[in-house]
Amino acid sequence: MGKIDEVQQVQVINGEGYQLSTLDKVIASARANSMWPLPFATSCCGIEYMATMGSNYDLARFGMERMSFSPRQADLLIVAGTISKKLAPVLKQVYEQMSEPKWVLSVGACASSGGIFDTYSVLQGIDRVIPVDVYVPGCPPRPEQIIDGIMKIHELVNHESLRRRYSDEYKALMNSYNIESNEK
Ligand code: SF4
Repeated sequence: MGKIDEVQQVQVINGEGYQLSTLDKVIASARANSMWPLPFATSCCGIEYMATMGSNYDLARFGMERMSFSPRQADLLIVAGTISKKLAPVLKQVYEQMSEPKWVLSVGACASSGGIFDTYSVLQGIDRVIPVDVYVPGCPPRPEQIIDGIMKIHELVNHESLRRRYSDEYKALMNSYNIESNEK
């Protein structure tokens, strides 16, 4: 009988000369370890994200050094900075152009809640226009916090079932944002 083991959060059964897992877990692990981020950075939090990309913090260790500035080739939308109401439709369009499965990380107080800018022109949180998976608090958050948020996204991805994007709950979530899911 094989031994149950956790290899990079994938539950596997190791035996002599073989290793067993489920398709769900293997695909989830592949997704989590090869995410292409799309940085949507508008202000100071974006600078912290740039620092996170530097050699000191090294996102390459997660297989995430390849930025995607094309939404169609990105898996993770990282929103860092203040989003004005005028910019909100652009952010939503970028999100809609990403193919499924996609995730969103909201970095800092401004992206998450409008931050200190409780004004007529600033969107009071990006979750008013797109669904958010993980929020990173702080003004600005340090690179360590951004990495923590990214690792929480990895955790979600590792535990997401392949069926989630086809579920009624997911469709209802997209409908609540008036977004047509591109997963058929
Ligand atoms: S949360 Fe603070 S650091 Fe980040 S964009 Fe807003 S004001 Fe700048």
